[in-house]
Amino acid sequence: MPWLTGYPREKIDWYPAVDSRKCVKCAMCMNCGKNVYNWTKDSPVVARPYDCVPGCNTCAILCMGDAISFPSPEYIRAIYKREKIWGKVKKVLKNTGKI
Ligand code: SF4
Ligand code: SF4
Repeated sequence: MPWLTGYPREKIDWYPAVDSRKCVKCAMCMNCGKNVYNWTKDSPVVARPYDCVPGCNTCAILCMGDAISFPSPEYIRAIYKREKIWGKVKKVLKNTGKI
């Protein structure tokens, strides 16, 4: 999936933040398909923040302690709009016959 079509991932501050006071150590966040978290002793840490998919918040939805937070969706929408990323993504999707 051409999420960013060449836009530098490091320029997008979208990754999870874990509130350790709320974390109930359920380990649901370790299901992340992008391997963003490490489990250290008995709790998760965000070890590879820029592997997180911009716009994804699945781990926050699954978190049993409501301990994971992300920036506002408006933050990511504004970047996509400002940098014209969505137009480029749409073009790739069309060229690959996905839409
Ligand atoms: S938002 Fe998605 S990609 Fe990012 S850490 Fe959570 S599950 Fe992984
Ligand atoms: S999913 Fe939430 S509560 Fe569970 S271990 Fe991860 S941060 Fe902690």
